[in-house]
Amino acid sequence: MTAEPFLRAIRRFAPSPSHPPSRWVLVLYDQLRPAHPLLVDGEPADTGVVYIETTAKPARRAYHAKKLTLLLSAMRHDARARGVAGHPVRYHVSTQWYDGALEEIRAQYGIDRVEVLSPAEAEVRHPIAALPWVVVRPNALFLSDEAFYRRVFPKAGGRRLETFYRAARKATGLLMDGAEPVGGAWNYDAENRRAWKGTPPAPRVPAFAPDAITREVMDLVRTRYPASLGSVDGFAEPVTAADAARAADDFFAHRLAAFGPFEDAMDDREADLFHSRLSPAINLGLLDPLDLCRRAEAAYRAGAVPLASAEGFIRQILGWREFVRHVYEESRALYATTNALEATLPLPAWYWGEASGLRCLDRTVAQVLETGYSHHITRLMVLSNIATLLGVDPHALNHWFWVAYLDAFEWVVTPNVVGMATYADGGVLGSKPYVSSGKYIQRMGPGLCAGCRFDPAKTTGTDACPLNHLYWDFLERHRERLARNMRMSVPLAAMRKLSVEVMAEHRAEAARWKERAAGGA
Ligand SMILES: Cc1cc2nc3c(=O)[nH]c(=O)nc-3n(C[C@H](O)[C@H](O)[C@H](O)COP(=O)(O)OP(=O)(O)OC[C@H]3O[C@@H](n4cnc5c(N)ncnc54)[C@H](O)[C@@H]3O)c2cc1C
Repeated sequence: MTAEPFLRAIRRFAPSPSHPPSRWVLVLYDQLRPAHPLLVDGEPADTGVVYIETTAKPARRAYHAKKLTLLLSAMRHDARARGVAGHPVRYHVSTQWYDGALEEIRAQYGIDRVEVLSPAEAEVRHPIAALPWVVVRPNALFLSDEAFYRRVFPKAGGRRLETFYRAARKATGLLMDGAEPVGGAWNYDAENRRAWKGTPPAPRVPAFAPDAITREVMDLVRTRYPASLGSVDGFAEPVTAADAARAADDFFAHRLAAFGPFEDAMDDREADLFHSRLSPAINLGLLDPLDLCRRAEAAYRAGAVPLASAEGFIRQILGWREFVRHVYEESRALYATTNALEATLPLPAWYWGEASGLRCLDRTVAQVLETGYSHHITRLMVLSNIATLLGVDPHALNHWFWVAYLDAFEWVVTPNVVGMATYADGGVLGSKPYVSSGKYIQRMGPGLCAGCRFDPAKTTGTDACPLNHLYWDFLERHRERLARNMRMSVPLAAMRKLSVEVMAEHRAEAARWKERAAGGA
């Protein structure tokens, strides 16, 4: 069988039998940092680098075709760059899970000791760590470690972002003036809630034309994974650290200034708005999160962006990204099964592209199926909100996010979906369910509602936005469970004021939509 061009080309970096490297490092698909902590010291020729390209992971989940393209292409580019830099390279293609693939590597190449940064995904970490000949080092690609998290939260309970975030600001010195936060406040979230009505114009995120390696991967994904979600066509993600750095430069130059005020805004004409769209590159290791935070701070200190934008961006990376990972690791067993709201509806076919008639949902799903991305607020307030209101099984929703999004990996997707977005963890990560009626969607995303056949301003009648019915029905359904949650007292009090007739209509319409969601007429 003839090997693909990439696999043939990478063989020229195989170690020379007369001068084998003195150590080997396994670089995983999400550890593609140019300054990889295990590869920065010593002569490149002394340290060999191993990669595993396995069909076992896509066999477990039918990922989006663009996600497969991104992961495989980025890893192949990294392998080539290491080879060019003088490292001996073994690029191993396997059908086995990571532990099995490592055993193949040991048998095939005689490599009997490998170092690796602790894999971020537990489903990869545990089997690898069980191999006695593999040395697992702390994963320094994140900004905080477990010891820091334990110092912030020495006792059980009370995991809140704000506590973690303030400690992380102090520890890193980011946006600090001595012991005080720059500007006198830690958090400018209240300034991040403007709706976008077309101005300022939203600059497009840069597109990166596929090179020969990426085009070869696109062909491979087309033929090897025909059942994957979406299509490789139009793939334009950065797959190298250099291109990811260009994408970050573009964000800092053109979008960070408006990121803060419009962080919660939604619009389908400019779906990315002012978001960085850097999460896929950050999660693969191509970008250093600390460097991004420092650049945001420098832009503020240079007077180029408002404090609310720099702080908002830093809070997402230094705060949320680190926080959700620790919370998840601490309660992984809980997150595997928890379903605090006892939501059991199967994921509606609408999430796989069947029209629901709800314009906000259909447009957002179309964007995700096309690109493998949508920004935070559409994930939270459209996709997850609607699923939570309907009572969709949070684990089915989690599976969908995990396969569909370019940036989805176990440690980040699960706490966000099963914790923050659906409240299925019962409030470990967030302090209340993120649910809203159609009025919120219209306020923050007027463009999403424009042209919808349902009216978010109406609460009765056949053209009332179904989210309005589903919202009150949700509150009634969970009123006892949420009664002791102070943050739910205002909506619950408002629900209690609704007349018996109005509530009956909400209940009946909500039931009709739940039946539709379950596949009924
Ligand atoms: C239901 C749901 C599912 C999500 N799934 C993922 C996921 O699989 N992978 C993922 O990286 N993020 C996930 N997020 C968090 C967030 O939506 C994305 O990180 C963000 O939308 C990525 O787009 P961006 O790079 O333009 O982010 P920006 O808005 O520009 O934010 C900057 C960066 O902050 C980080 N960030 C922001 N919020 C979070 C958060 N809640 N958790 C972790 N990092 C955060 C990301 O690295 C992001 O790139 C999810 C959020 C929700 C509500």
